[in-house]
Amino acid sequence: MKNEKAVVVFSGGQDSTTCLFWALKQFKEVVAVTFNYNQRHSLEIEVAESIAEELGVQHHVLDMSLLNQLAPNALTRSDIEIEQKEGELPSTFVPGRNLLFLSFATILANQIGAKHIVTGVCETDFSGYPDCRDAFVKSCNVTLNLALDKPFVIHTPLMWINKAETWKLADDLGVLDFVRQKTLTCYNGIIAEGCGECPACELRKKGLDDYLLEKGVDGQ
Ligand SMILES: [Zn+2]
Repeated sequence: MKNEKAVVVFSGGQDSTTCLFWALKQFKEVVAVTFNYNQRHSLEIEVAESIAEELGVQHHVLDMSLLNQLAPNALTRSDIEIEQKEGELPSTFVPGRNLLFLSFATILANQIGAKHIVTGVCETDFSGYPDCRDAFVKSCNVTLNLALDKPFVIHTPLMWINKAETWKLADDLGVLDFVRQKTLTCYNGIIAEGCGECPACELRKKGLDDYLLEKGVDGQ
């Protein structure tokens, strides 16, 4: 795949930043795409922009505010609490988000002559989002190839690994500190270690602690 071009769905968070580094190792040319759907923190777009710039990666920010128009949720509206009730999808779920993101990323790939699309979705630690599942991504890949009549390949390097293993992947790629210090995962918009209290911070910290423990390093 060394001679080929890839589009990475990129939010500036831990997962997609790790995927961006992964893609930079796999492909000759990498382009990042970030979707602006009025996320709770516009900082997310700024973080993505600054990481892409630092890595010298061409970066597109696409306006997807229609998503918020159709499906207001806890990621886009400050008056909706982030919560997960037993047996329900969390209030951060944006229906159809990944379907739209993969479709637009593939249309962009088509436009710029890229064959590969990389996304950081994952079945292992996920909050129950149906469009993060492997079966969905594979089905979406087939549909997009039929729609555009081209053999695009959607890559999901994190699909079967947990958060600790995602940290290990960053470490194996030689970018553990970069991902720790420069990415934004926190729902409260605090970079790096975050607020430490929201579900995203808890998941990120637990994964990091588990990984560092396994590696034999004290994370504190
Ligand atoms: Zn947080």
